[in-house]
Amino acid sequence: KESIMDGVNYKDEMPSEDPDDSIAKTALHKLKEERKTLPIYPYREQLLQAVQDHQVLVIVGETGSGKTTQIPQYLHEAGYTKRGQVGCTQPRRVAAMSVAARVSQEMGVKLGHEVGYSIRFEDCTSEKTIMKYMTDGMLLREFLSEPDLASYSVIMVDEAHERTLSTDILFGLVKDISRFRKDLKLLISSATLDAEKFSDYFDSAPIFKIPGRRYPVEIHFTTAPEADYIDAAIVTVLQIHVTQPPGDILVFLTGQEEIETIDEILKHRTRGLGTKIAELIICPIYANLPTELQAKIFEPTPEGARKVVLATNIAETSLTIDGIKYVVDPGFCKIKSFNPRTGMESLLVNPISKASAMQRAGRSGRTGPGKCFRLYTAYNFQNDLDDNAVPEIQRTNLANVVLTLKSLGINDLVNFDFMDPPPSEALLKALEQLYALNALNSRGELTKTGRRMAEFPLDPMLSKMIVASEKYKCSEEVYNSWKETNYSTQWCYENYIQVRSMKRARDIRDQLEGLLERVEIEPTSNLSDLDAVKKAITSGFFHHSAKLQKTGAYKTVKNPQTVYIHPSSGLAEVLPRWVIYHELVLTTKEYMRQVIELKPEWLIEIAPHFYQMKDVEDAAATKKLPRGKGRAAD
Ligand code: ADP
Ligand code: MG
Repeated sequence: KESIMDGVNYKDEMPSEDPDDSIAKTALHKLKEERKTLPIYPYREQLLQAVQDHQVLVIVGETGSGKTTQIPQYLHEAGYTKRGQVGCTQPRRVAAMSVAARVSQEMGVKLGHEVGYSIRFEDCTSEKTIMKYMTDGMLLREFLSEPDLASYSVIMVDEAHERTLSTDILFGLVKDISRFRKDLKLLISSATLDAEKFSDYFDSAPIFKIPGRRYPVEIHFTTAPEADYIDAAIVTVLQIHVTQPPGDILVFLTGQEEIETIDEILKHRTRGLGTKIAELIICPIYANLPTELQAKIFEPTPEGARKVVLATNIAETSLTIDGIKYVVDPGFCKIKSFNPRTGMESLLVNPISKASAMQRAGRSGRTGPGKCFRLYTAYNFQNDLDDNAVPEIQRTNLANVVLTLKSLGINDLVNFDFMDPPPSEALLKALEQLYALNALNSRGELTKTGRRMAEFPLDPMLSKMIVASEKYKCSEEVYNSWKETNYSTQWCYENYIQVRSMKRARDIRDQLEGLLERVEIEPTSNLSDLDAVKKAITSGFFHHSAKLQKTGAYKTVKNPQTVYIHPSSGLAEVLPRWVIYHELVLTTKEYMRQVIELKPEWLIEIAPHFYQMKDVEDAAATKKLPRGKGRAAD
């Protein structure tokens, strides 16, 4: 062998083409062929014709039929991107990123060039971008700088059935601009059959149906309710793995913590199974998962192994993972709910709707017959689940939306064209909250503070906190001790913080810094005067105050309710007398997450319009409190 090789000049023997390049070409060709196998492909011409004939089109097609990845490409191929961008909204950040990545691959272009995405705190687009995937919230913010969306030729409001708050508001805004921008095409696409409702809302827009391909799905219920669905999910996954023919498993969970727990337990238990059992590859997917790891769920499963995807609701309709044959559905999801009477919002684990359960089951029958294991009884399904989920607009704090609409010049919120109007009580509460935060004046008009707050893509309480940092001269504080160590990893370990979280914090901070400059707030520092930082936080979050009880529980000051400090908090052992919390999460108890210690007199100093002496009485006995009237002077 050696003698044959001798004297051979390898370079001359190689094909002149770069081998990497030809591999890329083959992959691209393969992707092109794959595109043609999607259910939407035979309807390409008809669909383009319908878009040409109508300004607004409602598109319905089962998940995985190719709506999100293909329609914008068809529009591009038909020339729509010559007149402006094609924008496609997604309710979820991960979906926007992942779909944009896929489309850029299919088109053989670099992500961020012709195909890009834009999500909060991350803009992956450029001058070149003609197809833009973005969260619905980001498009909403674009209205602030471009009220007629002049840079777009088509807007596709995708996953319309999700009915997120931002999507619902977008409906009203795009419907409005479509009246005077006759050249703007609007596509409303949905995975479920409530298309009539969208059509009615958009002045009887025609409905384009993409027939799906679906295989039968065998549904299994449990015979008795499960006490612990986490445990039941783990057992079910292992049973499928050991007893069922090849095919990947998809498990629906409610959030990152749950996914991480199950991930660990599954890893531990499969280690003990021995080599006779096939390998089980565990792939988590949730919003905060780093991008590199997100891509892993789409990698084909190696021969002889089985993949189990641990996902949040994101895998219900937003993302399609090929190869799933088994679905495990515990029947829960996490939703935000708001009580307009108390003004309190909490993140709750709730039973899903029948429509969701159906969607989840359907994920197993996309490429062949599937099986769905529901971890609840048939009786539960029939009697305890609602038909459809309540749209977010009817169960959320509207302060953010009201602030955005006000800054768009929409003052008459009662007559805004909502598909399903929010409860008037919730609208009123939002106005009250914005007034208390000094974002609106007594006539309901935006104040200077409110205008500044609207610039920040944050909840009004957070943006008020940031704007208030000007007054307390602490806009720089937050994370300086990390910066002083030159962003060291060691510092993160010593302080029990994930490096990844700090890096993300740095990115977000950079952007917020840019926004501070826009609203003309100078970065200032008080040399670590912690009280100043706490006061700035209190300026935004004074609604969220709580006082320690003899029992070790806390009571919220306004609308008394019993709450506890989350055990993961550094203050859980300390139990300060007064605290401010960031949010309430109901798990086994109503927990306050992210807590700071508060001096009760600050409540009167900072929010005299909201708190009276009697609210902070026990403090009054020991300290003389400043008396205030009217609103905080900021
Ligand atoms: P729909 O929007 O109708 O639910 P999609 O356009 O999202 O359908 O999906 C079409 C196909 O593209 C599916 O087979 C899906 O598996 C594939 N796909 C979508 N995103 C990715 C991705 N990031 N990586 C690999 N395949 C993907
Ligand atoms: Mg889609």
